[in-house]
Amino acid sequence: MKNSDVKEIYNFVDEIISTQKSCCTKGCSYCCHQQIEVQNIEKRVITNYVKENLEQQTKDAIRKDLEVWLDYFDQNTPDDKVLTAKDVFIDFRNKSAKVGLKCPFLINNTCSIYPMRPQACRIHIVEENPQLCNENKLRDSTKFAREIKDTLVDDLKKREQISIEPLAYMVKDIFLPERKLKPMEKVIL
Ligand code: SF4
Ligand code: SF4
Repeated sequence: MKNSDVKEIYNFVDEIISTQKSCCTKGCSYCCHQQIEVQNIEKRVITNYVKENLEQQTKDAIRKDLEVWLDYFDQNTPDDKVLTAKDVFIDFRNKSAKVGLKCPFLINNTCSIYPMRPQACRIHIVEENPQLCNENKLRDSTKFAREIKDTLVDDLKKREQISIEPLAYMVKDIFLPERKLKPMEKVIL
């Protein structure tokens, strides 16, 4: 899929989400303290954005947080086998959300890749009481947002194979090319 197609999807999501009632505001970032799942088709646009737009100081800050994130990941997943979808997207996700592990791209409560943030972040809205997102980092989005997400995935699957991985895994090569990651099975949607 071309970069322009992914950006078109982002624009579509932004437009449709902007029509919905939500209490989400700039600087509210409780939901950025959890594992974010990214689709394979998003890798290039996010990588390009990081390479072309972020200053060295910002990249250094992200690298530091990414290391913390990957260390925690290594310490909290089984190390004797290829990680399964359950290890990563259920067990580790729950664990990291409980401790509120911060997304490496969140700097001073602001998303450093905001124009190219993943679809999962764009589509995640709630209607009321941001404090509930602090108490439960895995709080569900509105029903509308979840339905749009499912519809989008179904449409994308008709065009090509869609796989997902944690955001930190996806951007590891940009910031920490030498770092070894635990092998993870390919998770196809
Ligand atoms: S989902 Fe929750 S934490 Fe995230 S911006 Fe909205 S209100 Fe804030
Ligand atoms: S990519 Fe940006 S919006 Fe998404 S979780 Fe990270 S900091 Fe938050």
